[in-house]
Amino acid sequence: SADLKIVVGAMELSNKKVKEVMTKIEDTFMLSSETILNSITITEIAEKGYTRIPIYEGTDKNKIISLLYVKDLALVNKNANISVATIGNRSRVRIVGENTPLTQMLTEFKRGDYHLAIVKRGELDEESVENGLPIVSFDKEETVNLVESVDKKMEVIGVITLEDILEEILQAEINDE
Ligand code: ADP
Repeated sequence: SADLKIVVGAMELSNKKVKEVMTKIEDTFMLSSETILNSITITEIAEKGYTRIPIYEGTDKNKIISLLYVKDLALVNKNANISVATIGNRSRVRIVGENTPLTQMLTEFKRGDYHLAIVKRGELDEESVENGLPIVSFDKEETVNLVESVDKKMEVIGVITLEDILEEILQAEINDE
């Protein structure tokens, strides 16, 4: 039955890792912190249809410094030529290792502190792990420097949201349709 398949899907979560269900980096829509917000770029961003957009510093796609919440674009003066960095800097960025079990990820998302995590190659350094998974607030310049020093060689390989895990749980049923 469909119900049984959902249960099986949920049970299989414990064997699966973040990297298996994430959105890969080449399919992730990100923006440079230097992107200027005007009517053209705002329209482009809105048309992508994503709620949250990772912001990387300058040209370094491995250095995610904040998340842009697309709803915040409503507050932007299109003629002021402000950069994405200006409105993205209050976001919190969660970074997880590619081998984080989906069950752990689901628990984190259910806690509700954040809804999108950045997936990095390899494991997280011990020092950067706080309460199971690190949460990094980029409100302050010092925090950015802290992340750099803890995790210099970080390679971003994708993003994951609750939606990706729910899809995995419902996979058996979706395949059936
Ligand atoms: P949204 O609200 O933006 O649609 P969801 O959390 O519902 O995001 O996730 C839907 C799918 O979109 C998931 O597969 C997720 O990994 C992916 N996703 C979320 N944000 C982005 C983004 N900025 N670029 C590419 N894919 C994304």
